[in-house]
Amino acid sequence: MSNTTNYHQHYDVIVIGGGHAGTEAALAAARMGSQTLLLTHNIETLGQMSCNPAIGGIGKGHLVKEIDALGGAMAHAADRAGIQFRTLNSSKGPAVRATRAQADRALYRGAIREQLENQANLSLFQQGCDDLIVENDRVVGVVTQMGLKFSARTVVLTVGTFLGGQIHIGLENFQGGRAGDPPANALAKRLRELPLRVDRLKTGTPPRIDAKTIDFSVMQEQPGDTPTPLFSFMGKASDHPEQISCYITHTNDQTHEVIRGGLDRSPMYSGEIEGVGPRYCPSIEDKVMRFADKNSHQIFVEPEGLNTHEVYPNGISTSLPFDVQVALVRSIKGFENAHITRPGYAIEYDYFDPRDLQQTLETKYIKGLFFAGQINGTTGYEEAGAQGLVAGLNAALQAQDKEGWAPRRDNSYMGVLIDDLSTLGTKEPYRMFTSRAEYRLLLREDNADMRLTEKGRELGLVDDQRWARFNEKMEAIAQEQQRLRSTWIHKDHPAVDAINTLVKTPITKEVNGEDLLRRPEVTYNAMMAIDELGPPLSDTQAAEQVEIQTKYAGYIERQKDEIAKQLRHENTHLPLGFDYAGIKGLSNEVIAKLNEHQPETVGKAARISGVTPAAISMLLVHLKKQG
Ligand code: FAD
Repeated sequence: MSNTTNYHQHYDVIVIGGGHAGTEAALAAARMGSQTLLLTHNIETLGQMSCNPAIGGIGKGHLVKEIDALGGAMAHAADRAGIQFRTLNSSKGPAVRATRAQADRALYRGAIREQLENQANLSLFQQGCDDLIVENDRVVGVVTQMGLKFSARTVVLTVGTFLGGQIHIGLENFQGGRAGDPPANALAKRLRELPLRVDRLKTGTPPRIDAKTIDFSVMQEQPGDTPTPLFSFMGKASDHPEQISCYITHTNDQTHEVIRGGLDRSPMYSGEIEGVGPRYCPSIEDKVMRFADKNSHQIFVEPEGLNTHEVYPNGISTSLPFDVQVALVRSIKGFENAHITRPGYAIEYDYFDPRDLQQTLETKYIKGLFFAGQINGTTGYEEAGAQGLVAGLNAALQAQDKEGWAPRRDNSYMGVLIDDLSTLGTKEPYRMFTSRAEYRLLLREDNADMRLTEKGRELGLVDDQRWARFNEKMEAIAQEQQRLRSTWIHKDHPAVDAINTLVKTPITKEVNGEDLLRRPEVTYNAMMAIDELGPPLSDTQAAEQVEIQTKYAGYIERQKDEIAKQLRHENTHLPLGFDYAGIKGLSNEVIAKLNEHQPETVGKAARISGVTPAAISMLLVHLKKQG
């Protein structure tokens, strides 16, 4: 390797893998001033979405906003690439409202790459990493496929589904990191020599279809929301490209019959695949078998981009043989003449037990080595991005000889994610849900910046522009709250008639603007439409905060009390041999886990993986009723 010895370079932080975890990790470390190298198989696939071209959704949207609050890339890229935006749960309370964007795959990759290429302190290098250099239980560098060595103070590993990746389509299987990419076998072999627990997981993706062969006229159209929501706290409507619709169709009896007929050649049902798959994102064959009483499942027909005819049929992920895939697709309304452009497949890969990680995502046994993303047993771009950011910032802190920082359960979904993984581990691909958080009234999408941006600034993750914008917003909120508090309305006020059209019970005694806004039927915008009460804040994010903080103050306080109460129940005894099926509202999964574990106390029940905070509340209600 004499011709490459001069190329040896030293970095503060090396990140391996340019997926969703790796790009956030590299950007975070570089933002914090660490000389960072992002080493990845292929620069063209930086920010590549391996599966569904969509960002956000319930629980996941919360993570995207938190990444953004800490100066990360995902929200900005989603704003620039999103071609259909929706606010999910818009009729429910702000805690569970979530932003989701269908993304143009190419625009998303471009937006991520642009941020990477323009980031100071960050170098990109295209090459597979085959080995880690470990000395005295500390990682000190990496070796690439062609034998190049790079040394570093810390290394972040974010290699996704690539470790020992095995792709299955029916009973055919071959090695791959994902369709079209090679696996990382040399690195997988090397990692298996380290003192870390390793196992196999599985995930899958649907076939893609040529839109020119789809009859959209028989499907239900699903346009995006207007005004179009934004992911980034720094975003503006003009960031969005052209917006287009998604469509909805359904499987039917014939589809299910085709699927049942192909099961003998299914790698999952024939025992060919051993890895555990994502229960919350099951394959269509799983859905048909598990919910045998349902004769139809919804399929979202989602465009892959503005300049492509490829379509992603969300809901029919499958690893059945290709001939069965063709028959099942063509049995669906609107897909009768469909041409499949890429077969669906399942992939099995190595993941590491996240209980071998500290809260900073540094491995417990190899100093300076951090893991983030799918390698930790999670699934999803948002879960990967969130971990990448935390691992990257901690890799930078350690390289700068500073104390690590870990998000907590009470300040972020990132904290929930990392605490769940590192304390409980996971036996199946872990994805985020709002039900995983016990403080969800406090952990809303809308206040992610208020929970994290100040910390991000302190860590060096938040630039001057974002910091100035954040402070302006905080100032606007405080001033408006003060103005509402000192705006008094009495029965002879000139605006009282207009106000009485908004409220259920007319104003009889003096109230201030805040009291009025606290009434459920009154919105900030409706109040501000009354001349004497306006003008409204031009900063719509600040206005939303004024409204939410005023309206939900009581609920938030109550939640804090509930949390305190729940903590008091830590040692409350549960009867042994109890059948939890008798408790109203518990999911089958929770009933099965509680019946199997028979926990002695509520505290122990709460720590069983899959037993959600909501389930614990139901348990407590039941115990209270029993006296
Ligand atoms: P990835 O996005 O996989 O990125 C890994 C990166 O590391 C790649 O750039 C790769 O080239 C690089 N790399 C790997 N090994 C090396 C090496 N040795 N040297 C250099 N570079 C390397 N998520 C869902 O939420 N729902 C789903 O239904 C879903 N289905 C999926 C189906 C399939 C078939 C696949 C492949 C993924 C699916 N995902 C799904 C998961 C989603 O794609 C991942 O969770 C997410 O991409 C993980 O991000 P990551 O950064 O950890 O890894």
